[in-house]
Amino acid sequence: MDSEFPCAACPRPALRIDVVERDYLPGHFLVHQVLDDLILRREVEQTFIALLGSGGLAEADAIARAQDKNGILAYCPTCSKLYCKDHWELVERRDGPFLTVRAARCPERHLKLIDYERRLYD
Ligand SMILES: [Zn+2]
Ligand SMILES: [Zn+2]
Repeated sequence: MDSEFPCAACPRPALRIDVVERDYLPGHFLVHQVLDDLILRREVEQTFIALLGSGGLAEADAIARAQDKNGILAYCPTCSKLYCKDHWELVERRDGPFLTVRAARCPERHLKLIDYERRLYD
């Protein structure tokens, strides 16, 4: 089942569970979100989706954090809401071929610390 969870500030999805990509990730499923996709183990999928659907965002984030240090990037713990990529302002630094993101601000200006580095090109 494909599942989408909307942004609290616009109609776009903040999180989207991808059933197609899941087939390419044995034992895992993929969650599209701001900045970086979340790859979680299949055994938590039902619980994760049920929590998101019932407003248990903090618990869903805790499940994600157990498998990925950034947890649900789209989730602001201060607002207890999800936001799409257009509603996060990334505090990023481009250093040669590297993109480093250490924080992001939600539409309410809450600062969320994150730890993300990516090589932009080879
Ligand atoms: Zn917030
Ligand atoms: Zn949005």
